[in-house]
Amino acid sequence: MRIGIVDVDGHNFSNLALMKLTTYHKQRGDEVEWAFPLLPYDRVYMAKVFTFTQDDITAYQTYDIVRGGTGYDLQSKLPADVENCYPDYSIYGITDTAYGYLTRGCPRGCPFCIVAEKEGKQSKKVANLENFWRGQKYIKLLDPNLLACPDWEELMQQLIDSKAWVDFTQGLDIRLMTAEKAAMIRQCKVKKLHFAWDNPEDELTFEKLKEYRKAFSLPDEKCKVYVLTNFNSTHEQDLARVYRLRAIGYDPFVMVYEKWNAPKETRRLQRWCNNKIIFRAEPEFAKYH
Ligand code: SF4
Repeated sequence: MRIGIVDVDGHNFSNLALMKLTTYHKQRGDEVEWAFPLLPYDRVYMAKVFTFTQDDITAYQTYDIVRGGTGYDLQSKLPADVENCYPDYSIYGITDTAYGYLTRGCPRGCPFCIVAEKEGKQSKKVANLENFWRGQKYIKLLDPNLLACPDWEELMQQLIDSKAWVDFTQGLDIRLMTAEKAAMIRQCKVKKLHFAWDNPEDELTFEKLKEYRKAFSLPDEKCKVYVLTNFNSTHEQDLARVYRLRAIGYDPFVMVYEKWNAPKETRRLQRWCNNKIIFRAEPEFAKYH
């Protein structure tokens, strides 16, 4: 078969599903390539992760188009024999980084997040590291909430044993931090960590961040905390979280929910806080122009 693949979101982020589909078809002896509009294919896979990405309306030359990804349908899933394939990183020219999920699902069910609906409200182990890592220098983990998984210890040990640089791209849930978990995170090779403080009413997050700050031997700028704004919080609450996080040794990073719909003050706050040259030069938001 001749298979065409389309990354509808563009090539800024590598699409794991397309990498796995490529391996799956190559193992069956099929030809796989980025789809060209004028060439005939037995099947074309179109993958779209982001809902805000415009669909690709190109008329691909095939009778069999398979569309998938959260950008099309929250419930779409790869068949198990594709899901278990080692990703073909070569389609994006990636040589030194492995991408993947060790777990899926999250018990939190935050109202602005699709994970619970898409993957379920339990964090479950879905793979071992060897399913997507073969000695690469860097590992980018896509797990939504690894610390909520009952198998966190075994999985953390796999990451430690890899001796690769690990990036917990979706952050770690500080509310689930314990001394044992922090000790294992310390043994991982990490360049930076990030957490989130989404709900300003949630003092537990702040207390846990304070309690564990010294457990990670990283400088302030390597311990980032995402501050969700424009979603159930006032400007005063947003600013207070930024100041309080900075005071206890974290690097706050303002995330704006539905930015197109955000007040000017929130966008100014984001510019001030996230540009670290400005943030250090002018520590008071009221004086930032
Ligand atoms: S903790 Fe993170 S992954 Fe889990 S529901 Fe909330 S935002 Fe989503």
